[in-house]
Amino acid sequence: MEGQTISHYRILSVLGRGGMGIVYKAEDPRLGRTVAVKFVPETLAGDRMALERFFREARAASALNHPNICTVHDIGVFEGRPYLVMECLEGKTLRDLLLSTQLTMQEVFELAIQIVDALDAAHSSGIVHRDIKPANIFVTRRGQIKIMDFGLAKVSGRNGGGTLGDSQAPTAALNELVTSPGSTLGTIAYMSPEQARGEELDARSDLFSFGVVLYEMITGMSPFQGNTTALTFVAILHNASAPLAQRRPEVPAELERIVTKALEKNRDMRYQSAAEIRADLKRLRRDADSRAGTPTLSSMAAAPNLSSAPASARASAPPSTETIGPPPSSAEYLVGALRRNRRVAGIVAGVVLAAAAAGVYWMTRPKPLDSLAVMPFVNMAGDPRTEYLSDGISESIINNLSQLPKLSVRSFSSVVHYRNKDISPQTAGRELNVRAVLTGRLVRRGDEFAISAELVDVEGNRQIWGSQYTPKVADMLAIQQQISQEISEKLRLQLTGAEMQRMNRHTTDDTVAYQLYLQGRYQWNKRTLEGLQQSIDFFNQAIDKDPRYALAYAGLADSYALLADFNVLPTREVTPKLQSAAAKALELDNTLAEAHTSLAWANYHVWDWAGAEREFKRALELNSRYATAHLWYSEYLSALGRFNEALTEVNRALEQNPLSAETSLALATRSYYARQPGAAIEQAQKVLGIDSRYVPAHVLLGRIYAQKGSFEESLAEFRKALDLSEGDTNELAALGYGEAVAHQNAEARKTLDNLMQRSRDTYVQPVWIAVIELALGDRNEAFDWLEKAYSDRSWWLVNLRVDPFFDGIRTDPRYNDLLRRVGLATAQ
Ligand code: ATP
Ligand code: MG
Repeated sequence: MEGQTISHYRILSVLGRGGMGIVYKAEDPRLGRTVAVKFVPETLAGDRMALERFFREARAASALNHPNICTVHDIGVFEGRPYLVMECLEGKTLRDLLLSTQLTMQEVFELAIQIVDALDAAHSSGIVHRDIKPANIFVTRRGQIKIMDFGLAKVSGRNGGGTLGDSQAPTAALNELVTSPGSTLGTIAYMSPEQARGEELDARSDLFSFGVVLYEMITGMSPFQGNTTALTFVAILHNASAPLAQRRPEVPAELERIVTKALEKNRDMRYQSAAEIRADLKRLRRDADSRAGTPTLSSMAAAPNLSSAPASARASAPPSTETIGPPPSSAEYLVGALRRNRRVAGIVAGVVLAAAAAGVYWMTRPKPLDSLAVMPFVNMAGDPRTEYLSDGISESIINNLSQLPKLSVRSFSSVVHYRNKDISPQTAGRELNVRAVLTGRLVRRGDEFAISAELVDVEGNRQIWGSQYTPKVADMLAIQQQISQEISEKLRLQLTGAEMQRMNRHTTDDTVAYQLYLQGRYQWNKRTLEGLQQSIDFFNQAIDKDPRYALAYAGLADSYALLADFNVLPTREVTPKLQSAAAKALELDNTLAEAHTSLAWANYHVWDWAGAEREFKRALELNSRYATAHLWYSEYLSALGRFNEALTEVNRALEQNPLSAETSLALATRSYYARQPGAAIEQAQKVLGIDSRYVPAHVLLGRIYAQKGSFEESLAEFRKALDLSEGDTNELAALGYGEAVAHQNAEARKTLDNLMQRSRDTYVQPVWIAVIELALGDRNEAFDWLEKAYSDRSWWLVNLRVDPFFDGIRTDPRYNDLLRRVGLATAQ
């Protein structure tokens, strides 16, 4: 879609996705401004009545001219699909804001008053929103509220498609479930009781929904969220919400009264107009301010216009208890299927309706929730000392859940990019190609944590499950188990006894050891030299605490493995530690896929080809979703020249890990070794599209260009890599190779000298020197260095058979002798 022109709007990028479709950022060249273009469902497109209705609603909505209502500029139809053009907002939806922030009471007032002000303006013009929910309330960077999607709920046939007088409207809620299973259920939690019953709606329905939003702004929780759709209905229809003070003690009693009045189930007892709520909120804020003696100032932004929007001139409009909204129309715009379902739906009522609705939902759900991404938990305290914990919880939930055969869980390295990023679960979910996303946050207060988690259905933009915990720091282990179990139940996976056990297996009972392990994995995942040194330290400490902690040994082995790959020590010095840690992990628990993978990798590093394959296979038997095993196995297969299998394995790893730069680049490297430079370049560039600072991608591109004879491009990539790595020895060597290939022999010699200089106090991988000498044409010198690599037991010689570096010497007897000694002459 990007780059396309719709009418005269040039589409620039995707702003977001919702239940109806995609919202694009676009440029309006005539007025030189940026706009947002939203397409509405195609079901409307073929239906003239529906289309007319859409235009009528959009026109009415665009007549609303209010600072807190998102302005609609234009409407149209493009290739049969209706769209509307609105102002492009910068900031985030209240939904995303609430996911990452606890609002202060002052912020609650600031925002709430703006919302009711907008509602008052709309209601006074005879327009009911019908879909007031945090996803439809935008908070701009300057803290200004903009309500979006006025009038859309009705035309899209969602959320109480009926209007007063539309006698065929009952059970609209059920209709919604029947017609768009899984797509809009998130809004149920904000429905008024009359809306849930499918009755006629008036402005007071919006006021109830606003009450729900207000409750959530104050407490961070929804008042009526049930664990299932049916229970949510029951709660909306029959249950009182938990008192605010129970969830946020500092809430003034008067605010409790306001929220309770907005949430009255009987609309005659409820607030009768937005203006009435606004007056109450303003009075309360004034009283609170004068008590506190401070002016109202939001901590969200320093901009002056955070103070409430000017009171609308219509503030004193009479309560809108009568019919408002356009005249009733027949339900002809609804598709036939929906009509049929209406007849069915007419039979059920009340709680029966609710239960049936839930049942229908489950029956008609398009796909089971079979894939999941667990986002790094947000560390609300922003305290770096507990960052390892927020990551660690996510990671251990991932590990637990990835044991389940019917559920595909994205690995930690593919979600870690999202840490501290303002990104909605929908966007993340789509990027990671999963059905559901788990987000969570964590605050530490003394020796207690406050943890909340929310599971969201990506397509439906709907909360499936949410929960809060306040464990003592010492109970971290138990709580992590509890969270994973609850999620699994929500995913309705039929866990067999054995799987249950696997999930519950504590690998250590020592909380401190567990925390040390989490800190170790956190550092390991950084994939930096410093991180590795720290991870070794943490894993060792964990082992000190619990000497029988198999996972900690596996972590230790994996750290040594990466240390070897960083070329900072001769492999010969690292492998004994790697081997013994892996062996110890297995001795303690030979059912751990992690431990078998570590041992496989150790064997690979010492050129024990058969032993490596045996362990990889065992690891994948134990856990076919362990991404690291797939990734490392693919490297092993590539070294043996089994490229097809290698590509399959790396793609498996990528399925678990679609956003991991390391895994994505592995795919490029495999293609390159398989002599598919075109595919390799394309893939490496894709990686740089995700992270343009990823050094190994620049090095790989430099190598491919060098081989193709594109020396300028090649040198540019190598220089970029050297720059980004701040002069790292490996990247310096790569540049030397680039210079030699480009016939810049003097420069290459200078770089070699530089490397020699460095080799006095750091380890320089001898294979690199050999490669440069080869490119300079000094074959004897090159073989001397390869011999040195052999005596260092350099892991890099694993690629002797396939690496294009060695293409020029394959007929040399010295090469074949080396190949034999590395075991590659016969290995297959
Ligand atoms: P729905 O309205 O279909 O029930 P929704 O409100 O979650 O669901 P959309 O209204 O389609 O979804 O919006 C999707 C996302 O696009 C929003 O969450 C928001 O991030 C972004 N968005 C929508 N309108 C605008 C806008 N005018 N300016 C900037 N971003 C926008
Ligand atoms: Mg919306």
